Amino acid sequence: MHICYIIAMQAEAQPFIDAFNVKEQEGAFAPLPCRLYQAEPKAGKKLSIVTLGRQHERDLVGCEAASVATLAAVEKLHPDLVVNSGTCGAWARKGADIGKVYVADSVMFHDRRVPGDDDWDTQGLGNYPVWEGSMELAEKLALETGKVTTGSSLDLQPCDEVIIEREGGELKDMEGAAVAFVCSLTGVPVMLVKSVTDLCDDSAPTLEAFLKNLHLASERLAEVNRKAVELLLS
Ligand code: SAH
Repeated sequence: MHICYIIAMQAEAQPFIDAFNVKEQEGAFAPLPCRLYQAEPKAGKKLSIVTLGRQHERDLVGCEAASVATLAAVEKLHPDLVVNSGTCGAWARKGADIGKVYVADSVMFHDRRVPGDDDWDTQGLGNYPVWEGSMELAEKLALETGKVTTGSSLDLQPCDEVIIEREGGELKDMEGAAVAFVCSLTGVPVMLVKSVTDLCDDSAPTLEAFLKNLHLASERLAEVNRKAVELLLS
């Protein structure tokens, strides 16, 4: 069994990297910027953690970098399960709280509109399958489940909110559907584990809340992911 995590930012991944004492495989994806950390916690049971790397003096985030990293990881590592883990925005009125960790029960894009063509519109939204074991794992870890919707921006535009509300989105991120899209093409099961850094229905500016809560949310994520890996590799 080989589990491959795709985690956008180094700050999101670091507590998890530290918990498993995984070793960086320098230049594993050269010339791509994504980074690979690996460990073999038990014989024949592998854990890989891939972060998206950096460009323009910032950690890469977003769909393009997530797609590139996921495809590179799937082709190089042949994982049995991909897990996209990271932070997200969510809504207090839907029960979210800072640092709360969720497992995705479904995943789609919220910013890809093709008005006038229903089939392309449907293709744009994606609605990719998540790993069938996701719900059982969430139950074992006593985590709530919710729908992840992905877009290319941190802010929330009214036209995106219309789609999110219509489709029952609960967790807003910038990578989940891109990772799930690549997994749907390559036939690799995908699970998403997300921790809340900011509340979309709060008056605090999103980036401010995100930066303030990034550390806490990443620590919570690492606790959950540590338990998830122990269960999955048991
Ligand atoms: N400038 C910031 C970029 C953070 S982008 C920095 O470099 O520190 C936000 C990241 O957190 C993305 O990877 C995204 O998946 C996630 N995220 C957290 N809150 C989000 C929200 N409200 N909407 C979209 N993505 C969010």
